[in-house]
Amino acid sequence: MQSTEQVTSFLSDRITALAESQTIAMAKKARELAAQGHDVINLSFGEPDFQTPQYIKDAAKKALDDGFTFYTPVAGYPDLRQEIVAKLKRDNNLDYKPENIVVSTGAKQSIANVIMTLINPGDEVVIFSPYWVSYEEVVKLAEGVPVLVKASIDNDFVITPEQLENAITSNTKLVMYSSPCNPTGSVFSKDELLAFARILEKHPQIFVMADEIYEYINFTGEHASMAQFDFIKDRVITVNGFSKGYAMTGWRVGYIAARKEIADACDKMQSQITSGTCSIAQKAAVAALKGGRGASEEMSAAYLRRRDLVLGLMKDIPGIVTNVPQGAFYIFPDVSAYFGKTTPDGQKINGSFELSMFILNDAHVAAVSGDAFGADECMRFSFAASDEKLKEAMERIKVSLAKLQ
Ligand code: PMP
Ligand code: GLU
Repeated sequence: MQSTEQVTSFLSDRITALAESQTIAMAKKARELAAQGHDVINLSFGEPDFQTPQYIKDAAKKALDDGFTFYTPVAGYPDLRQEIVAKLKRDNNLDYKPENIVVSTGAKQSIANVIMTLINPGDEVVIFSPYWVSYEEVVKLAEGVPVLVKASIDNDFVITPEQLENAITSNTKLVMYSSPCNPTGSVFSKDELLAFARILEKHPQIFVMADEIYEYINFTGEHASMAQFDFIKDRVITVNGFSKGYAMTGWRVGYIAARKEIADACDKMQSQITSGTCSIAQKAAVAALKGGRGASEEMSAAYLRRRDLVLGLMKDIPGIVTNVPQGAFYIFPDVSAYFGKTTPDGQKINGSFELSMFILNDAHVAAVSGDAFGADECMRFSFAASDEKLKEAMERIKVSLAKLQ
């Protein structure tokens, strides 16, 4: 038999260097444990626990019956791009034309398209940290250099304008963030974004990728887009999608809004890699947007209630420090009080990965270690789960953590 080394030598350096997505890896571990018969509560995966609203499912069925089974235009059906233009005007007061919109197979592909399109080897990409897992790895895939700018829980995970300024060099090509943020739930206000934009105004070679996929899950009532500032708008790529706000993770529809040169470049990239997104999913997305925000608002109200439920329960767990997330469906507490402690079978907990594995194996609750998001002192718990599951999960975690000495 060949050794593993011989077998994997077939693989490119590119894929060998790539880390697996930790959110997906943890969800996989949880499924494996469940398959062995354990009652696992999975708070690791960032996915709404709601079904896609019925009117969207009905539109997909109609699309099939109407014969939408052929290849689609690479950048998306004209009616979907038009609805996205209308949405950007209605919700964000942004003026775009369909030629500025590229629909992709999930916002994940939108993000990869943009990075591949803008980044040359050695270009620096400033990533507001804690950050969503895939940002750093895709930048590396493009041979860019991730520059992580870290915010702390004491500052509600919002970096300061000075931190951004200090991170910029003559090699900086792109700045990336999500708001509402995965994993912290932080939401940037208009004033905070303006302060960042004023710094970027002085550096005309820098583009900004504003990931707004959690836009509709925002408990502050106000969503601010970086593209609203005219003096920087042509350097902003807004990323959004249907997975979170419309509970459509499996349908795989995301999009960007950007100046035409960038949209055309993403179209070209996609034309070689996937072509247009699934015809049925696109027609469902048209219906989703036409239906407005009602369904999202109902889901968001449930997330807010669950956030408060979990925050209340976490207060009773010694050593867990929380802030109050303002959007998305994650709580990102500091759990470092447990580092250095030992499990009943003598394993030392050195960081968030070991703690998350202990919690998985002892409490049968899956959550993602903060190191995957650039903050080893934290762990990410999704609260997109039923009240009963959340209560049970917090109780089990409390019991397990009390075993650490
Ligand atoms: N951005 C962020 C911040 C996310 O959490 C996700 C979750 N998957 C994505 C982008 C990608 O979403 P999707 O590919 O499902 O549209
Ligand atoms: N965005 C979700 C998460 O952060 C889904 C998993 C993924 O796409 O990485 O858990």
